[in-house]
Amino acid sequence: MVIEPKIRGFICTTAHPVGCRAEVKRQIDYVKSQPAVSGPKKVLVLGCSTGYGLSSRIAAAFGCGAATLGVAFERPAAGKRTATAGWYNCAAFEEFAAADGLYAQTINGDAFSPQIKEETIARIRRDLGQVDMVIYSLAAPRRTVGEVTYSSVLKTTGEPYTNKTIDLKTRQVSEITIPQATEQEIADTVKVMGGEDWMDWMLQLQNAGVLAPGATTVAYSYIGPALTHPMYLNGSIGQAKKHLYQTAGQIAAQIPGVHSYVSVNKALVTQSSAAIPIVPLYVSILYKVMKEKDLHEGCARQMYRLFSQKLFGAAPQTDEQGYLRLDDLEMRPDVQEQVSLIWEQLNSQNVSQLADIDGYWDDFYRMFGFGIEGVDYKQDVDPDVAIPSIH
Ligand code: NAD
Repeated sequence: MVIEPKIRGFICTTAHPVGCRAEVKRQIDYVKSQPAVSGPKKVLVLGCSTGYGLSSRIAAAFGCGAATLGVAFERPAAGKRTATAGWYNCAAFEEFAAADGLYAQTINGDAFSPQIKEETIARIRRDLGQVDMVIYSLAAPRRTVGEVTYSSVLKTTGEPYTNKTIDLKTRQVSEITIPQATEQEIADTVKVMGGEDWMDWMLQLQNAGVLAPGATTVAYSYIGPALTHPMYLNGSIGQAKKHLYQTAGQIAAQIPGVHSYVSVNKALVTQSSAAIPIVPLYVSILYKVMKEKDLHEGCARQMYRLFSQKLFGAAPQTDEQGYLRLDDLEMRPDVQEQVSLIWEQLNSQNVSQLADIDGYWDDFYRMFGFGIEGVDYKQDVDPDVAIPSIH
């Protein structure tokens, strides 16, 4: 069938298998064009199918020559319904890894659940023996523990916060008031996006004997400039990220020898960040400024830099709080001064000149395999693509 993008709110409900494959290849080609990294050799990637997790997996496999086992929560095609982009990405990743003689397997299911943890441990034991790196890149709206399902919210924690936002479809800039999260909502967001599940994974891997001594683990966070703080750093998600940071310390304390980090990454268009109010407008301005200064990086460049410069180049490059800072270019004073200047002036009339809305849409479509050079979107394609390791 001919597959076209169908956008609903901040998500695209279709994905293009050929386009997703081309985008995965583009990221792989970038990493392969860079010097090889002496890094981990057997890597578990939790949240491996899209965004930062996919790019981490690509950096590990094609930058370090690592075997990778990935866990993701994606949906295969069914009849006329396409698979999710993450499904196609995993299929393409496995295909390219196999062509280079690299082990790559994927487990599809709820990484929060005990079943998927057990299955993953069994697979490591069977195929890899132990893993020497664990990447925790889950971004989920909810988490079920036993009988209870917790949902995360994207709200402030202080007073309700009003600022500019954009309707990306109509390019109208308007004001939005982000409500204050209740104590319960904050606790639930921490339960979903905090470090509890990361710690569970690490302890279970350790107890099962499938974590190599001296292994490295990394989870991802965001800090951003003051204008996003009420929404992010000081919002409900920020409370979860604080918990994630504390967990990094606890993992290191409870599993001696393990190197545990939180990497603060750049704000980028991903399926998760598209859902946060205010942030897409900030990202569009940031893209404009960083592209003009030739500082822009996508997920692949960020994650290659994490591996090659921050984690495995020499001694890990952390700041005084122990964070790995991949937002160093985003947070450069000259970049942020320019962003705030634009933010002040921005309105519906000048938004297309002052912000990179086209760049935002370009990345958005790309995530679902659309708008990619060299792909003929008029061609009939079979949406039913198998991930080789999933039977
Ligand atoms: P994403 O939506 O692209 O990726 C999320 C991944 O988690 C996917 O592979 C998805 O399949 C997987 N997943 C979700 N629920 C799951 C479940 N229950 N079981 C198994 N897998 C599940 O998101 P992203 O933006 O790449 O986010 C990854 C991490 O990076 C998050 O911690 C996020 O906060 C952080 N981060 C993102 C940005 C940004 O701008 N996008 C910036 C800094 C940090």
